[in-house]
Amino acid sequence: MPPVSPAAAFDYIIIGAGSAGCVLANRLSEDPDVKVLLLEAGPRDWHPFIHMPAGLAKLVGQKGVNWDYDTSPEPQLDNRVLWWPRGKVLGGSSSINAMCYIRGVPRDYDDWAAQGAIGWDWASALPYFRRSEGNSRGADALHGGDGPLSVSDLRYTNPLSQVFVEAGRQAGLARNDDFNGPQQQGVGLYQVTQRDGARCSSAVAYLDPAKARANLTVHTGALASRITFDRHRANGVVYSAFGKAFHQQATREVILCGGAINSPQLLMLSGIGPAAELRRHGIDVVADAANVGRNLQDHLDICTLQHSTQRVTYDRVGDLQIAFNYFLRGHSGPGSSNIAEAGGFVRSPLAPDERADIQLHFVPAMLDDHGRRRLKGDGYTLHACFLRPRSRGRIALASNRASDKARIEANYLSDAEGFDLKMMLECAKLSRELFGQPAFDAYRGAPIFPARNDLSDTELVEFIRAKAETVYHPIGSCRMGSDEASVVDPELRVRGVEGLRVVDASVMPTLIGGNTNAPTIMIAERAADLIRGLPTL
Ligand SMILES: Cc1cc2nc3c(=O)[nH]c(=O)nc-3n(C[C@H](O)[C@H](O)[C@H](O)COP(=O)(O)OP(=O)(O)OC[C@H]3O[C@@H](n4cnc5c(N)ncnc54)[C@H](O)[C@@H]3O)c2cc1C
Repeated sequence: MPPVSPAAAFDYIIIGAGSAGCVLANRLSEDPDVKVLLLEAGPRDWHPFIHMPAGLAKLVGQKGVNWDYDTSPEPQLDNRVLWWPRGKVLGGSSSINAMCYIRGVPRDYDDWAAQGAIGWDWASALPYFRRSEGNSRGADALHGGDGPLSVSDLRYTNPLSQVFVEAGRQAGLARNDDFNGPQQQGVGLYQVTQRDGARCSSAVAYLDPAKARANLTVHTGALASRITFDRHRANGVVYSAFGKAFHQQATREVILCGGAINSPQLLMLSGIGPAAELRRHGIDVVADAANVGRNLQDHLDICTLQHSTQRVTYDRVGDLQIAFNYFLRGHSGPGSSNIAEAGGFVRSPLAPDERADIQLHFVPAMLDDHGRRRLKGDGYTLHACFLRPRSRGRIALASNRASDKARIEANYLSDAEGFDLKMMLECAKLSRELFGQPAFDAYRGAPIFPARNDLSDTELVEFIRAKAETVYHPIGSCRMGSDEASVVDPELRVRGVEGLRVVDASVMPTLIGGNTNAPTIMIAERAADLIRGLPTL
């Protein structure tokens, strides 16, 4: 182990400057009497494609800001290896995500509390959603108007996004102008985490206003490889930067915000995890915690693609031209689009309760293999994902080195009842139904994926196994709960040790019905009050 860094110890060391880590860096350093160190493995968020919303289409290929993960071969998906992008940059995944601002529905959080995440029911979560949110439409009972995370309507939308909304209406779905309002179900345009037409990542929202504080130190290019302990108390972090190893001490707490893949990996590298697995990798066991890395959940998604007979999609617009117009014309035009402009929440015939169980993201461009494979011509894409999967996967160690990627076994469609597969079938059928509505008549060209509109259920299942992908919402691998088997308790303290918390998407007990950025930020907002010993809102 490297010698302890000569710099004075910090009160708190936060590992990971992502959606959650930036919130904590800001909130904890509000107290001028504490010293906070924020470690981030990736670089600063200087890349212009991070800040121009439509640049997200370009970010998929930027390995410098992306962990660029692959799953293990997925047995229920033709043994395919699925690509899992995750942000590796200030702002984490909030710097590369699609900016859709969604919270899920109250029952998602009441379910968390019922599963043992005491204090995380909707009534407890809502004040923190409101505290974080700066919605340009203003505040009301459900929304915040002056929080750090700017939320706004899109400045520009493609005409096809309106066509999609109209198709939804024709299919009998309600028009919904606020998916975070009293009613989630329906179709409409997403509100996005943007400020003045630019991406509002967690770094922009929370870190930028705090980084001049004398009591906050931010180190980028700093890969944490191990949390250190004095007996069972976390007392520091070993990390590497500039090709050198450092050991920095924390007098109060180490807070792990590495996200759903890296947080369980770092716990295990630090000796907290299933004892047999740790020993197999030559890691000394600090706490035998069988469930670290377990309970992994993700939204599996199926894309339906169709050619457009009209040249209105984003497929043909030169990227340089978009960027030029965006920067020259005050952050307006297609460059301000998050691409996944419209969408919806639908309750399928199989829904076990009153909640929507399918989410849609409409993209006025052909999106194959996450946009990594360019197709010829013009077209549009409808993503459909099942919101509350029953399958569970896990994160496991590939080695005892932080520089090696952890193993991801998503285990999609592996639930014993086969319910997840039935739901994916519902997703594919719903997309086909929506593309068949009269609103698309003026645009509908030949189908691309699937290749025919009249596939039988058996053929659609083959299509799903061959083409389904992640919609980027892994959670649950450091599950919060009141039971001893959970990884963290409801105050997010890691069981079996002291002075260590996990605060990020990995602590969610189950997936919420929607995208996961806003819920992660809510978790960090509430965690900040818990850590500071402040009364919760
Ligand atoms: C392509 C994509 C599109 C998405 N679209 C949306 C969307 O439209 N709306 C939405 O709500 N959600 C979306 N999401 C999901 C959402 O962004 C994530 O759920 C959320 O950002 C997770 O936050 P987190 O804090 O758990 O992890 P992250 O934001 O991923 O942060 C983890 C941070 O920790 C750092 N880190 C990890 N390990 C170490 C280490 N050992 N040492 C130092 N630093 C480390 C990482 O580099 C990263 O910066 C999307 C995600 C992706 C990838």
